[in-house]
Amino acid sequence: MKILIANIGSTSFKYRLFDMTTEAQLAKGGYERVTDYGDAIDKSLAEMKASGALPRLEDLTAVGFKTVLAKGIYGCAELTEDVLRAMEQMNDVAPSHNPPYIAGIRKFREKLPRTPLVGLFETAWWMNAPEAAMRYAVPEQWAEWGVRRYGFHGASHRYIAERVHQLLGGTDLKIISCYLGGSNSVGATHGTRGVGNSLGMSPQSGLPHNNRVGDLDSFAIPFLMKQHGLTLDQIVRAMNKEGGMLGLSGVSNDMRDIQEAAAKGNARAQLALEVFVHSIRHWIGAYLFQLNGADAIVFTAGIGENQKEIREMVCAGLDWFGIRLDPQKNNAYQRGQEAVISTTDSRVKIMVVPTNEEIVVAREVKKLLESKP
Ligand code: AMP
Repeated sequence: MKILIANIGSTSFKYRLFDMTTEAQLAKGGYERVTDYGDAIDKSLAEMKASGALPRLEDLTAVGFKTVLAKGIYGCAELTEDVLRAMEQMNDVAPSHNPPYIAGIRKFREKLPRTPLVGLFETAWWMNAPEAAMRYAVPEQWAEWGVRRYGFHGASHRYIAERVHQLLGGTDLKIISCYLGGSNSVGATHGTRGVGNSLGMSPQSGLPHNNRVGDLDSFAIPFLMKQHGLTLDQIVRAMNKEGGMLGLSGVSNDMRDIQEAAAKGNARAQLALEVFVHSIRHWIGAYLFQLNGADAIVFTAGIGENQKEIREMVCAGLDWFGIRLDPQKNNAYQRGQEAVISTTDSRVKIMVVPTNEEIVVAREVKKLLESKP
């Protein structure tokens, strides 16, 4: 059973091909600065044919997608025209994510009309979170229209939770996972239940992201419109492209550049780092309460795996909670490893675990196909 997982960004196309009988990865590749998804799909399929990973298109059982958000659809679903329309209804909430995914999925349908296309929505892991953690205090009508917290990065937080259960042993662990990369979130899982995520109704909320603002008091918007004459489109664009770590630092959206500038004495870059860390700690604190403690705090993704200084800042001064980072283990950590970086007497294990969202999607696609009569 060969399942291709397509990861579609606004200007990128990446893929991984799995043999889901063994979960072996057969191929991996992708393109940046993509202007035509059809072209990227053709080139990728040709590469897989040339390498022998996928000699015949008929051997492809399904294509899976880490889809983001659709109105009224939360789990794993075959991407019918109705589901694509439900995704379109949420384009305003996920403007950087849904339109490219919809365009890419439609291209796949053109090229592979008989192959099932399946999406695992990023909201899926939070479907069973307590209602009290997911509601905004808005008029009931708004809630019925879908104004509520959904939570995202579900495939990644799920992968981390399942992997940490395997690594530490146990079935009912309390895990706080910090996904820190281009977009960022802190998630809480208890056993097999995702119970909270810092991302709310849209993937723009929660922690500051590379270019996206993260949490912002909604009344900033009428203030900017009425007092400063900005249009709604200008505000939405700025919240998407000019906010986050870029807006704060004025240097870059990349944490490496920000760290370098801060080390040279750039005060805005230093403040950007501190705001980022403050926000991560805010959410870790919230989940320590919600879970009544934690077995593990886990770092993953580009920043989580590469930036020991950020891990150190996040974990500083938390002995009262039984959270003690081992500086030597933290400094010695190399990307790609799965490691515990806390001291031996730390009550909460601090870990770094590389994520693998694609395998979570592939497993769910397989499960959905096998459940069909
Ligand atoms: P991701 O979206 O997971 O690829 O993470 C991207 C972010 O991770 C970048 O914006 C960088 O800030 C950070 N990052 C990626 N690679 C490195 C690295 N080798 N060293 C430090 N930071 C990195």
